[in-house]
Amino acid sequence: MEYTKTFCSQCGRDFGPGDHGFSECKRHRRTSYHILLSADLGEVVSQVGEVLKNLNSLLAKDGMREQLSVRSKIIRCTLTTSHELDRKEREQVKKVIVDQFNESVSAWKVSIESFRRQSGNVQQLVESAS
Ligand SMILES: [Zn+2]
Repeated sequence: MEYTKTFCSQCGRDFGPGDHGFSECKRHRRTSYHILLSADLGEVVSQVGEVLKNLNSLLAKDGMREQLSVRSKIIRCTLTTSHELDRKEREQVKKVIVDQFNESVSAWKVSIESFRRQSGNVQQLVESAS
């Protein structure tokens, strides 16, 4: 610990002993982000297609039909950080997440659909999967 007392120069809050203070509140404000990842389920999609085809031919006997399509899957993440991420930090986090998925399950071809800050109690969940 370099300093016995650290402060935020915007709000003046005392952060006790530490190596640095904060220049702005957003550097110490706990923040949540909603991250939507899309995953290409490839094989799974064609298998579901096969199931639906069989299901529909059974249902057709009773004059029924269902429609369901699976093209991609949205994976939701909530990320909580000790401060608001600046642009560079966001890019780093995105890369870590995507790299981790693609190292573990490369077949899913995971990519980031959206990355937004959760504002107050408003939940901004976007369904972009179709
Ligand atoms: Zn502050």
